[in-house]
Parts: sequence; structure tokens; C-alpha cells
Amino acid sequence: MGDTEPLAITALKGVGPQLGAKLGRLGINTVVDLLFHLPLRYQDRTTLAPIGSLRPGSEALIHGRIEISGARFGRRRSLVTVISDDTGRLTMRQFHFSGAQQRGLRRGGCIQCYGEARAGPSGLEMVHPEYRLLDSLDHSITEATLTPVYPGTEGISQPKWRDLAGQALARCGQDIPELVSEFPETVSVHLSLGEALALLHHPPPGSDLVALRAGTHPAQHRLAFEELLAHHLALRGRRTQRDALSATPIPPSARLWPTLRGQLGFDLTGAQQRAIGEILADIAKAHPALRLVQGDVGSGKTIVAAAAVVAAVEAGQQAVVMAPTELLAEQHLAVFRSWLSRLSLEPVWLSGRLSKRERRQVCTSLANGQARVAIGTHALFQDDVSYDQLGLVVVDEQHRFGVAQRLALRDKGRIDDHAPHQLIMSATPIPRSLTMVMYADMDISVIDEMPPGRQPVETVALSNSRRLEVQDRIREACARGHRAYWVCPLVEDSEVLAVQAATSRAETLRAELPGLVIALLHGRTPSAEKEATMNDFRCGRTDVLVATTVIEVGVDVPEASVMVIENAERLGLSQLHQLRGRVGRGDRQSTCVLMYQPPLGVLARERLAALRQTTDGFAIAQKDLELRGPGELLGTRQSGVPQFRVADLARDRALLPAVQTTATRLLRDNPGQVPGLIARWLGHGLDFSDA
Ligand code: ADP
Ligand code: MG
Repeated sequence: MGDTEPLAITALKGVGPQLGAKLGRLGINTVVDLLFHLPLRYQDRTTLAPIGSLRPGSEALIHGRIEISGARFGRRRSLVTVISDDTGRLTMRQFHFSGAQQRGLRRGGCIQCYGEARAGPSGLEMVHPEYRLLDSLDHSITEATLTPVYPGTEGISQPKWRDLAGQALARCGQDIPELVSEFPETVSVHLSLGEALALLHHPPPGSDLVALRAGTHPAQHRLAFEELLAHHLALRGRRTQRDALSATPIPPSARLWPTLRGQLGFDLTGAQQRAIGEILADIAKAHPALRLVQGDVGSGKTIVAAAAVVAAVEAGQQAVVMAPTELLAEQHLAVFRSWLSRLSLEPVWLSGRLSKRERRQVCTSLANGQARVAIGTHALFQDDVSYDQLGLVVVDEQHRFGVAQRLALRDKGRIDDHAPHQLIMSATPIPRSLTMVMYADMDISVIDEMPPGRQPVETVALSNSRRLEVQDRIREACARGHRAYWVCPLVEDSEVLAVQAATSRAETLRAELPGLVIALLHGRTPSAEKEATMNDFRCGRTDVLVATTVIEVGVDVPEASVMVIENAERLGLSQLHQLRGRVGRGDRQSTCVLMYQPPLGVLARERLAALRQTTDGFAIAQKDLELRGPGELLGTRQSGVPQFRVADLARDRALLPAVQTTATRLLRDNPGQVPGLIARWLGHGLDFSDA
């Protein structure tokens, strides 16, 4: 293709300025861009499914005769049409319909529908399926190939997407340059890039439908590998860009850190010393460091961060420590206050809940440099906050932050080509194969050793019906001076419902465990009350803390030895592991009770079994990756896990090891291809990761 101008999207039939602009907003500007806008999934309209074979949740093409059709006036008016074939009966339900549609659905008529079957009040239903009236059942229309479903439907219908893809293939399908010349053995390259793209847009009859739907077709593999490679290269590019920036070197602390270390009352583990060494070596350089410190819950990451913080202060720089929740930030404040007070330093506190006047005071002291250390939530980087000499940014539990927030904080300290050092602490262990590819822009330290004296947490899974036994256990533990957490996780993604569940659980426990003091904590508890509640629990004035998953990250109460998690089947492995990490922090034998609502699905059963078998965060992370993909592992969408077009980090994990080596070879032998490869897959925006 070489020097020819890429064909603009408006060259396609039916793409005027308006549609062109819409596509542009999706990052599709050229006809080739359109070819890389790949189907999200496929519908199978190649065969008619017998109605009797449908299961709730399955999508299918069915046909049959209309037994009866008429409007119903329930809570919402709907048009109900009962359709049957030789094997069963199904209800089609429409909430929006015209008179003409209603008249068309005549009793005895033939019809075909494509949609998702759901359990309705009287058997299986399809709500608003795509339907078509037929002259006779012999005239049903099936497709020869799988029907692609495209992402990004805003105002662009699926038929339109299919039409555009077809046109794009015809115009440009033949001349898409191969930018990767060498593929590892794990990737089949029988298909050229153009052929792979064509196959995914228009799977020809006879394609391996099962593999396509599962995302394991060789065409998908080939493209997934290229996509992972592009992301990895983009991250490495980020690193190169960062290396071009300058930072103020922070030399090892000769005074503050040795003093603090001497007063800790414990010896650092070998892993902590190693991590501190790596961090101090990084920040002593004249380029901004970006290091991820991974360590299981309770491995002692806070003191590692503190070593860097005091080094920054000693070097005349400011340091901030940012936590994702108010609760965790407050805990950091308490810990840092006690550590820093021994060095005659006082951290300032910045959260969204300060009064205007307090906030102004803090902002002034940060801007004029009086304050050397700031601790808080994302309030630390709102627009009106500026720093005098920000040298170090510590972000705790980074996966809880949106990328935009982290970038904003980094930009605070950035003046022209000068940026602060960054340290990211994460208790979410990420398998090494994944970090190599998806964190290629960062350096990584792993704290893989627990402070001495910790007892592994005993983990049991019990059905919800055995709640009273669990309460007996709590009563006994509390009688021995221990404390317990009782977690009620999100119910169907609703914080309101979770709060309700926790509130009513607290009430039951108060009634059924009369001798114990039971407190309640959730995301809607006012800040001051939260702090007081946490404090009471920490000091032992409260025996049982009933909470939503707000306590997930970082909360540290060594006397807590029982963790009860209700509806544990709803949570992912990593999250359960995090919650479990709230106990077993002292030297007492601790228990984690996973309560579940039977019957357990296969995946939920495997998750609970995995937790019972191991307490090693990295093993759990690997299992999580296998069981459900990286979403949970790396955080949610907003945390900046890239949205891939074909790749799936869990499904394609076997491809990961080769990504790095292929990238290195490409950068060495064919660096000219790299920008094109990145642009092809990521457009020009790379907003999912930190620089
Ligand atoms: P996390 O890695 O989960 O952030 P923390 O930094 O909160 O862990 O540490 C957990 C607890 O362990 C804290 O009470 C901390 O003071 C203590 N701790 C940290 N390092 C050590 C150590 N080397 N020996 C003993 N206790 C330690
Ligand atoms: Mg922590």
C-alpha cells in the first residue's frame, strides 16, 4: 500500500458527513479502521432450534405457528403472542407495538423469531425478538453463516454495521499490510491478516462455528496475538517517553529513615528490604520512576512506601499518599501520623469531606511548601490543589482508581518535562505472565514474604442455612477476646441493597448475640461516624463489625480473627482473598467462613474450593485469571484495563509469554513497523495506562 492515502470512511456508500462523524467518534476514520472494528460476538441463525430445546438465557432462531395473540393490560400493556412448534410453546412479548404489527400477528400464521429465551410467568418468553412473518413453515429463512454482532451501536444498526464491513472488505480487504513478520509457534498463521479479518467479519459457510463463538478460532488467535503485541508495544513506548522526562533525584535517606526504622519495633522482612532497595535505587535517578509494588494483603507494604516518603522529605521534596477510600486513607493517616511524629513531621489530610476553610488552609500549606507530606483520597489532585515541589506520589490499591484520576495526580507535579516519581502499591497479585505484557511500562517489586508469626487463615465454606453455627463460633471467639467481621457483599450491583442487607444483618445479630457489641459500617456511613466505628473496633469496644465490602482494602485490625462473608458465591476470587486478608494479621489462629446460597454453580464451587486450598495470593490470582478473566483481577473497566477488540487475557493467556519476545525482536529488526501496528489497534489514544 505504501504511500497511498488511506481511504476515508466517507468513500463508502451510505456514509455521509453525519454517519462519518459518528464513526469518527468511535475512532473509525478510514476504511481500514472499519476492518479492525471487529465483531463482539456471533449469533447463530444458521439453524432453527426446536422450541422444546431452549433454555433460559440461550439465544436462538425458532419458528412456529401463532396459537394466539393479543394485548394484555397488566402493570404494563404488552402484546403477547404464543408460538408453538412440534416440540413446545413459547411466548413472544412486546411492550412497544403498532396496530399494524398487532394485526399482522394472526392466529394460525407462521412466524420465525430470533432472540434470547427467558423464564417468564408462564414458561419461556422472548421479549422483543427480531421476528418475521412467514407464508409457511417451509419458508423459514436461515443464514448461511454466523451473524456478527458489532460493538458500539450508538445509532448505528447491526445491519448497517454488517453492510459497512462488507463494503470495507470489498474495497480494502486485499491490501492490508502485514506489519508482523514473525509469529510464535503458538499462533497459527495459515491465514493472512486480510483473510483473518475477512473471516471474522463474514465467517464463510463451513467455518468452525463453535470455535468462533468461543473465541478460539485460528483467525481470532492470530489477531489476538497482534492486538496484545500492539498494546505491549504501546506500553513500552510509554516507558521510553517517560525516560525522556526528568525528575528530581531523591538520594537514600541518611537521617529520617534510619531513625524511623530503628523505632518500628519489628524487623523488616527480606522481601520488604529488597523492595525498599529497588525503590530507593529508582527514585535516586534523574528520570521519573514508575514502580508497582505487589504484595499480598498484610505483607507490609505501608512501611515500604514510608521509606520512600521520608527519603523524599529529607531531599526537600513533597510526598503524597493517596488511597482509594476514605476509610483506608484515614488508616494511612493514623499510621503515618504515628511514624512521622517520631521524626517531628506532621502529615496534612485532604479528603472530599473537609470544610471549605480547612481545605483552603491545607491547599495553602501544600502550595507554599509548608506541608511536606499529604495523605488523602483523590481530593489530593483536584483542580484547586497545587504543590510546591511534589517529588513522590504513592498510590495505594491502584486498581480502585480510575486512570484519569491517576494521570491527573501525576500531572500535578509535572512541569514541562519534569515529573514526580510514582509508586503504586497493590495487594492484587497479578500473574507474572500478565504483568510482563500489560504492565510493560512499569518496574515491579514483589513482596512475597509475610512478616513472621502469621498463622495461615483456616477457610471453611458453609451453606447459608448454617448461620446459627457460625454465630456460635463468633460468640466463642469474642468470649476469648477476639473480634469478628461480618461482610454482606453487593446484591446485584446495588449499593443501596447492600446497605440494606448489612443493616438488617446487624439487627439480626444484635438480637441473636445479645452479649456482644455489634457495629455497622457501609459506604453511606458519614465519614466521622465511620472513623469512630473503625476506632471502636480497633480498640475492642466493638466485638463484631458488620460491613459491606467497603472494608475490603487495607483495613488493619490484628485482633480480628473471624471473617464471615455472606453470599460468597457472588464475589470473585481475588476479592474474596482480599476480604480474607483482613484477618490473620496478628498472631492468633484465624478463620474465614464463606457462606453461600445453594445450589452452587460450577464456577462458584471452584472458586470456593480454590480459596480453601491456598492462601497464596499469586496462586489465587492465577486461578482467577483461569476462571473468570482479568476483569476482576486487574480491577474493573474504569481502572484502565484496556478493552480489547479480539484478545481476552484469560482465554488467550497462552499467548502472553511470546508477546514480549516478539515485541523485542520487532523493535530490534523492524522498528519502523511499530507505530503503524500501534495505530492500527489502539488508534492514537492510549488512555488506559500511566505514563
Ligand atoms: P499491607 O501490605 O496489606 O498494606 P500493612 O502495611 O498494612 O500491610 O501491614 C500489615 C501489618 O503488619 C501492620 O500492622 C504492620 O505494622 C505490620 N508489619 C509490617 N511489616 C512487618 C514486619 N516486618 N514485621 C512485623 N510486622 C510487620
Ligand atoms: Mg495496605
